[in-house]
Amino acid sequence: MATQSGNLFIIAAPSGAGKSSLIKALLERHADGTMQVSVSSTTRPPRPGEEDGIHYHFMNVAEFEQRIDAGEFYEWARVFDNYYGTSRKVVEEALQQGIDVFLDIDWQGAQQVREHHPETRSVFIVPPSLEVLESRLRHRGQDSDEVIAKRMAKAQAEMSHYHEFDYLLVNDDFNDTLAQLEHIVLAQRSRMSLQQVRHAETLKELLG
Ligand code: GDP
Ligand code: ADP
Ligand code: 5GP
Repeated sequence: MATQSGNLFIIAAPSGAGKSSLIKALLERHADGTMQVSVSSTTRPPRPGEEDGIHYHFMNVAEFEQRIDAGEFYEWARVFDNYYGTSRKVVEEALQQGIDVFLDIDWQGAQQVREHHPETRSVFIVPPSLEVLESRLRHRGQDSDEVIAKRMAKAQAEMSHYHEFDYLLVNDDFNDTLAQLEHIVLAQRSRMSLQQVRHAETLKELLG
């Protein structure tokens, strides 16, 4: 039943703003099987330390295009000259089981997801400044100077879509931002349409 389905959250940000770290930390705080992050497919090469099936499903362009044609993606987009996409099957199965799902996707993907699933809550994360953004990309130590320059050049274009989202977080202090994200998620879980179903027995008893 739709009202018992999990909640779908989109988290978007310019590269390096901290979205992957925030989602990871939130999932560690709620390791009770009620939340999961969707593992995207991509044609980008793995970074050092990235594992297939954990960070992304890495594949070549031909395989990705074949999956587009087969309708396997819930949404997909080209970002920084690579394809990225979300598996339809994984997202739909998790939501059906009542699990909250996080999509770490770009603004183009966010537009597609809102069309399929208007009750999605979307969060946009920005860094406190462009200088901080660049320094986070450098400190992460996983991208070449050329890739960093390309990501910085695209950051403002990505951020220009901030107003399409339901929530805006400025990721200055990590733990403050994490707490804000957690509040958004917990508030969404308490909305009336869900609580009425979840607590139907209690409400019946209370109201007589
Ligand atoms: P990061 O931004 O530094 O984490 O770099 P990534 O290479 O992991 O991601 C590049 C961009 O692709 C980001 O804007 C992601 O949000 C976006 N992205 C990742 N997976 C997906 C996906 O499945 N679908 C869409 N539409 N975008 C994705
Ligand atoms: P994204 O997924 O948005 O590309 P990451 O989560 O990989 O970003 O974060 C980029 C880098 O910045 C990582 O090295 C991460 O540890 C660091 N970082 C994230 N948030 C903060 C913060 N609030 N303060 C300092 N460093 C941060
Ligand atoms: P990175 O290559 O640094 O992991 O990700 C670069 C960008 O691709 C990020 O902004 C990320 O949000 C976006 N991205 C990652 N996965 C997806 C996805 O499945 N769909 C879309 N639309 N964007 C994605």
